[in-house]
Amino acid sequence: MEKVRTRFAPSPTGYMHVGNLRSAIFAYLVAKHNNGDFLLRIEDTDQTRQVEGAVDFIVNTLNLCGLTPDEGPNHPGNYGPYVQSERLSIYQEYAQKLIEMGKAYYCFCDEERLTKLREKADLEKIPFLYDGHCKNLSKEEIATRLKNGEKYVIRQAMPKDGVSEYEDIVYGKITVENKLLEDQILLKSDGYPTYNFANVIDDHLMEISHVIRGNEYLMATPKYNHLYDSFGWEKPVYIHLPMVNGGDGKKLSKRHGSASFMDLYDDGYLPEAVVNYLSLLGWTPETTDEVFTLEELIKYFDPKRINKSPAIYDVKKLNWINAHYMKKLSINQLLAITVPHLENAYDLSDKNKQWIEKLVSIYQNHISYGKEIVDVTALFFKDHISLDDECRDFLSQDGVNNLINIFKEEIENIKDWNVENINQAIILAKEKSGMKGKMLYMPIRIKVTGQMHGPELPDTIYLLGQNIVLNRLNK
Ligand code: GLU
Repeated sequence: MEKVRTRFAPSPTGYMHVGNLRSAIFAYLVAKHNNGDFLLRIEDTDQTRQVEGAVDFIVNTLNLCGLTPDEGPNHPGNYGPYVQSERLSIYQEYAQKLIEMGKAYYCFCDEERLTKLREKADLEKIPFLYDGHCKNLSKEEIATRLKNGEKYVIRQAMPKDGVSEYEDIVYGKITVENKLLEDQILLKSDGYPTYNFANVIDDHLMEISHVIRGNEYLMATPKYNHLYDSFGWEKPVYIHLPMVNGGDGKKLSKRHGSASFMDLYDDGYLPEAVVNYLSLLGWTPETTDEVFTLEELIKYFDPKRINKSPAIYDVKKLNWINAHYMKKLSINQLLAITVPHLENAYDLSDKNKQWIEKLVSIYQNHISYGKEIVDVTALFFKDHISLDDECRDFLSQDGVNNLINIFKEEIENIKDWNVENINQAIILAKEKSGMKGKMLYMPIRIKVTGQMHGPELPDTIYLLGQNIVLNRLNK
């Protein structure tokens, strides 16, 4: 088999939607499963959508996720340049070849004429297709108009009869009637290619064996295949990926909260967990396992097991997977993704390093992503805690007041404030009050934290400090 080569071909918009990142992951996995190459190609032919620094942003994102390209703008191989705006002469050369072969033609139609055609199509409620007006201009007329400097585009001359078919790995056989294929623009009047042209030229010249991209290109692919056929080029294997929807069933977008990788990263999600989660968006592994390292994904990934139906981006599941990875972090890794959020939210000036370390570590198994540390630790940073009805009901039970008074005395008696002595105080309170189990721990927890659940009670009490604990027990 020829070498497997796949590519991720984003437009540099300065934003990495998780759906885009999923395309990158799948392209990476197909390449690496087959010991192949993974390329990054920047598709910047829409000059109106350029964003400063967007290429670095894409490269950083891929590197953070471990999806380092073998070739790309920062790692040129033998197939460069890897940025489409640096390849304009290549597209022009191939467009000329198509014209010579009669597979493309100059079109001089102006905006006014095209607008009229569009309006007519709208009125008739049929999809707008360019009507081929310029398809049969004489050589002389073309030469004159070019000489006069008239604006033009180059259009693909599409067959009008019969059907076009191809096989997609995910969607199976795709059939389109040729009369529905538009004589699409290949080169725009500014000399830039359209995506529709550049993707074919580049995928061929870069020897891409498998094209992996969103399914919005599924029905346009027959047009691309006609370009391959015109040049006599071998077509790649096509793997179109199902859409990613939000929980409301609509296409995932910025509306759905953290649908951008950087937002997730900034909130303290772990790239390896995000990659793991996104790999399951539309792909079902053969086992029931759901937690996979990148190496395991490379080993098990099989594009034949990608589903056609839209995948649902489920934040709860992402959190579950992320929490799983959080539990394995070293203390330093954990500090790195939590402390900046604490610093942002609270005044830590009177807290020492040990205190912060201990705080973060007792919550390691209680949070699903870094920023969540802020909410769960609020009780350490406020003067007053308020109790909900459930907590109040619990405290109104017989014997609770007595227990709290006893415990308060034991806490007052502690000379050396440490977890062991706090533990001892709880044991003494148990013996003296006769309360045990839930009736021992819960009232104390509620009084000092305002909550019914949380990390180990002695640790929590220790971090709150003797004064605050006494204050809260007094209230
Ligand atoms: N630039 C296209 C996009 O961002 C790439 C599609 C493809 O992978 O061919 O949608």
